[in-house]
Amino acid sequence: MTDTQTATPMTALPVTTPTVTPAVGSTEVGSYFVSNYPPFSQWRTDLVGEIQSAFTSEPNRDVPLGLYLHIPFCRKRCKFCYFRVYTNQNASAIEQYVESLGREIELIGQQPAVRGRQLEVVYFGGGTPSYLSSKQLLFLRDTLRRTISWDHADEVTFECEPGTLNLEKVKTLKEIGVTRVSLGVENFNDAILEENGRAHLTPEIFRAYDWLQQVGFPQINIDLIAGMIGETDENWLRCVEKAIELSPDNITVYQMELPFNTLISKEMREHGVTSPVADWPTKRRWVSEAMDRFLTAGYQISSGNEFVKSLDTDRFVYRDNLFRGTDLLASGVSAFGHLQGVHYQNYDGLEEYQKAVLTEGRLPINRARRPTVHQLLIREFVLQLKEGHLDAEPFARKFGVDVLTEFAEPLRNQEAAGYLEVDDGRVRLTRKGLLQVDSLLPEYFEPQHRLVRYT
Ligand code: SF4
Repeated sequence: MTDTQTATPMTALPVTTPTVTPAVGSTEVGSYFVSNYPPFSQWRTDLVGEIQSAFTSEPNRDVPLGLYLHIPFCRKRCKFCYFRVYTNQNASAIEQYVESLGREIELIGQQPAVRGRQLEVVYFGGGTPSYLSSKQLLFLRDTLRRTISWDHADEVTFECEPGTLNLEKVKTLKEIGVTRVSLGVENFNDAILEENGRAHLTPEIFRAYDWLQQVGFPQINIDLIAGMIGETDENWLRCVEKAIELSPDNITVYQMELPFNTLISKEMREHGVTSPVADWPTKRRWVSEAMDRFLTAGYQISSGNEFVKSLDTDRFVYRDNLFRGTDLLASGVSAFGHLQGVHYQNYDGLEEYQKAVLTEGRLPINRARRPTVHQLLIREFVLQLKEGHLDAEPFARKFGVDVLTEFAEPLRNQEAAGYLEVDDGRVRLTRKGLLQVDSLLPEYFEPQHRLVRYT
């Protein structure tokens, strides 16, 4: 798990997402995290023509461009994972995937809407990008160099599972231009890591962290999860202290959720097992306690689940751009993207993905949707609320809409309930609101999207 598309287990865009569960009471099966709008269930295969025309249109050079690369392999499937991941693939299957990814990037680079544009951000997410060998990473770097320039990218993020690193690979990350490493720590207790099906244990965390520090990166992020199976008050506080001792630039904390397709959810559904995860009030209390400790230790709040040493220098450009509607090219199986006003997602099965790219020589896009301008406004408003505060003025400039009037009713309701304050053209979430921000967002959706499946 790490902080991607944005923020979710082994951070990238979630493969499944809400029917948004109320963030109260026990942790039942259902998603909580909001990462896009309109809901993914509204993106359709018969709308793929919309993204094909976006790719063949004139490039809009004023909009920043990013690239997301999905590496869908993991050593082991975590019990809480809801991503498209493959375990036990042999070396030749992985080699073939890397070849497909290289080919897909070449195809993307040939599209009129992309030609001549430079990448501002690159994000390697998964799955486990650090599962790849140094040789495969250098191959991807070289392919990118030949096709879309990333030499001037502000930020290149790379997600790592501690047990897949070695010093040589960490040096390769530096060599290919990674600026922000995100280490999926999740917990510092071996019994809890094991019980939740993580592939790594604590010695691997400390070894990996040493290598990262030895080699040196502008930003190191570590991920924690509040509410893993077996978590206790005492252990959680020990985890928070250990994270502070490591002193990374950023710390990301997720609250454990149980989307439909996790192994835990399957057990609950098929065997009537009660939820083994702490309830929402407990998880929110744990995150609140972590916030207090991080603030005391000098960290600042960058969003409801992200803490940074300095808001001025530790920018997370990928997230900031995503939340502000910039273009993001998707590459890899099941990856999500947005180009010139159109949302899209690649095929989510390896076979179909590779057939499209390698055999048919075409972009492997499975579904798409062009949101209306009003829906784009909602998307940016709800995503930016996750940062804990927003100004109305940039929305007025971009959309010609006063968001305080447009969303007056949900803002009033949520202010009355103590989740936020509206003052002087600004919305600011209270601690109570910040701790459960995702559960507040569907109230801003268009009525027809409030009760539909999210994925
Ligand atoms: S199985 Fe892989 S992608 Fe899923 S949470 Fe675990 S490490 Fe992350």
